[in-house]
Amino acid sequence: MLLLSLLAVLVVVAVLIYRQVALSAASSIVIIAWLVLGAFSREMLSPWLVVPLVAVLLVLNVGSIRRAVLSKPVFGILKKTMPAMSVTEREALEAGTTWWEKQLFSGKPDWNEFAQISLPQLTKEEQSFLDNEVNELCTLLDEWDIQNNRKDLSPEAWQYLKDKNFFGLIIPKEYGGRDFSPYAQSRIMSKIASRSGTAAVTAMVPNSLGPGELLVKYGTEEQRNRWLPGLAKGTEIPCFGLTGPEAGSDAGSIPDVGIVCKGMHDGQEVLGLRLTFSKRWITLAPVATVVGLAFKLHDPDGLLGDPTKKEYGITCALIPANHPGVEIGKRHNPGSPFMNGPVFGTDVFIPVDWIIGGAAMAGKGWRMLIECLGAGRGVSLPALSTASGEMNYRMVGAYARIRRQFNTEIGKFEGVQEATASIAASGYALEAMRQLVTKGLETGAPSVMTAMAKYHATEMMRKSVEHSMDVVGGRAIQKGPRNFLVFSYQSVPVAITVEGANILTRSLMIFGQGAMRCHPFLFEEMQSMQLEDQAEGIKKFDKLFISHLGHVANNLLRTKIMGFTRGRFSSVPANADDFSKRWYQRINLLSAALAVTSDVALAVLGGNLKRRELLSARLGDVHSQLFIACAILKFHSAHARSRAEDAHAEYALTEALYKAQEALKEFSNNFPARFVTRLIKFAAMPFGNIVSKPNDNLIRELGDLIMEDNPVRQMLGQYLYVNHDPEDATGRVESTYQMLLALGPVWGNFLKAKNSGKLSGNTLEEQAKDAAAKNIIQPHDVARILEYDARRYDCVLTDAFDKL
Ligand SMILES: Cc1cc2nc3c(=O)[nH]c(=O)nc-3n(C[C@H](O)[C@H](O)[C@H](O)COP(=O)(O)OP(=O)(O)OC[C@H]3O[C@@H](n4cnc5c(N)ncnc54)[C@H](O)[C@@H]3O)c2cc1C
Repeated sequence: MLLLSLLAVLVVVAVLIYRQVALSAASSIVIIAWLVLGAFSREMLSPWLVVPLVAVLLVLNVGSIRRAVLSKPVFGILKKTMPAMSVTEREALEAGTTWWEKQLFSGKPDWNEFAQISLPQLTKEEQSFLDNEVNELCTLLDEWDIQNNRKDLSPEAWQYLKDKNFFGLIIPKEYGGRDFSPYAQSRIMSKIASRSGTAAVTAMVPNSLGPGELLVKYGTEEQRNRWLPGLAKGTEIPCFGLTGPEAGSDAGSIPDVGIVCKGMHDGQEVLGLRLTFSKRWITLAPVATVVGLAFKLHDPDGLLGDPTKKEYGITCALIPANHPGVEIGKRHNPGSPFMNGPVFGTDVFIPVDWIIGGAAMAGKGWRMLIECLGAGRGVSLPALSTASGEMNYRMVGAYARIRRQFNTEIGKFEGVQEATASIAASGYALEAMRQLVTKGLETGAPSVMTAMAKYHATEMMRKSVEHSMDVVGGRAIQKGPRNFLVFSYQSVPVAITVEGANILTRSLMIFGQGAMRCHPFLFEEMQSMQLEDQAEGIKKFDKLFISHLGHVANNLLRTKIMGFTRGRFSSVPANADDFSKRWYQRINLLSAALAVTSDVALAVLGGNLKRRELLSARLGDVHSQLFIACAILKFHSAHARSRAEDAHAEYALTEALYKAQEALKEFSNNFPARFVTRLIKFAAMPFGNIVSKPNDNLIRELGDLIMEDNPVRQMLGQYLYVNHDPEDATGRVESTYQMLLALGPVWGNFLKAKNSGKLSGNTLEEQAKDAAAKNIIQPHDVARILEYDARRYDCVLTDAFDKL
């Protein structure tokens, strides 16, 4: 009876934890339950049980006791193990906002909130810009000519970019800019990138991290009036210099300095800065008219007004490129001929009001950069990656059908389908991710989400391009005006490296920032430890910590319950259909497992987790893949159902959640306190895997679909510049493919008869005529077959040159 009663109490406690009942109410319910059970079993009221129960309840419920025996000791231990947060670190962590990714980290995503999110739409003006100005620009771009002959955009393309405000997409209308949404910017960059990566990078930079954005967000009215109209019109070309030879990823350590001093400017003595800097790899620098510069500001004589403050930290200023002492104009060669070069200066004097935001913003540069970088990172490089993924879909799918070996379309070989199915699914996933991420950017700059977007979009692009190169083979390797793939391949390392190099982004930022910004308690707990008044700190910590314990217990319990049912019966959005329901439930399970594993990792390793990148990166992977899965589900739900779309979504979802699951398993297998994490793994996956890799049937289905003019191919085509000119690199493949589609079964029937030796004749023409005579094809198909064959042959050719 006693055992049964204790079991009943345990069940009551579990239900209270599961329902997240407030501590005081939960304690009262436990006492009532205990007393009721005591009426049936006297042993329940024995002092051996009652005293410990009262002790636990007192510790949990009475603030002063709880602080003394629980919170204060934990506070002391954590404070010792947590590394002190530098100002730059704190500012980086505080910068930006959070969005849907926070829900996924909490372990219990609120699907009602998710259901309210609608994917972004273009305004009439944005759509018109895409259909007209962007299209027109694309007609001015020839990537081979740009890459091989000019090593630059043509003067017409440059002029068009300037005239049509391509450099002012984010600048408000009152300054002559276009003030487009993040989604519109992304779509514009993608469409340009589907024609020319060089032009896309050129247009991207002024709209991404650059003086324009910094001025809009932080500039003084005077600075905005001075620069924004010119930037919007393209009469001013901006660049932004942060990186130097000594500081790349560790941008907070830049050695470039500005010393506050008095000096002469425009014939007058003014308060200013003496700058010494050496920047490299700065995009647009060789053609820039205005240079944004990051440096560390020192004020040894307290001239800025605070005699006690000598070190201000990272500060940003805007300097005309022709200002005396500023040296720019040389070019680096980043493998794609967009403008990129170094910027130098020694003892360059500038007035203090050239600091972006004026003297009041001295030392605030790091935060400004992190915030602006965050937003740009979610738009530009994911847009480039999406364009690449979608072009690969279109080109490789078509080429895999046109190109035949062993009398078979190469896209029909299962080995090739393994690659093409992955290309198909990543094209779909990239578009889905772009749409959800740009929606998230409408109302803020969620730094964790944009880091996920930058890393995963560029990695998906890398994989898609590598698969594409494999499938297209030598035709993709031989460079020349016919090559439709190699420039995308060449641009991969740039996308991987800039705006937060990928290894660093995965290893340090996604989980590091994720844990701080998305965890419901951690950041505030950390802040409480930084308070000077320790008693106040403990008081704050105590409240957070007790809620934190409840959070962990709840997630552990939910992981256990959902693990047993593989997430079945857990909540899903009200509008979930039969396709999506199980995916949402799997996300619930993995989200709870991520939350509880993260808490265990933080409790065991504390601040050391930051250095254990192999471990923390895997938790970041789980978090990211859950976000990607949500993006796919949202995108899938926005369209009419078709088997083609279901197949693409199924592959992409399977891959995302499989990666999340494997990352969790690898984390668990490598964590120092393996026993604990294995228990969590067992709780989440008591019957083994939650998801398996995409199976062979799905691979074959997608491998076939990518060669068809299926609804997903058509949908993704809307986001690209589709060329139909048979003399163009992509137009050649596209138009040949369209011709093949128009032939319907004719080409296949003809080849089947030809290859089985049923047709007589030595030439293709004789064989086609014989096929018509034998009623295998219609007489009017003879000319069509000959025309297609000529085009097909032209489509597989590569270029040859007299001299390289
Ligand atoms: C084409 C091009 C254009 C650019 N344009 C600009 C521009 O306009 N303005 C500008 O300011 N900068 C620009 N950059 C610089 C760019 O931002 C840097 O290249 C980037 O920050 C990485 O620095 P790095 O290349 O020096 O790599 P490093 O910092 O030397 O890093 C090397 C490797 O180590 C990894 N790594 C470093 N630290 C860690 C860590 N803690 N944990 C895990 N891995 C780590 C990195 O991920 C990377 O893989 C550009 C670069 C290129 C190539």
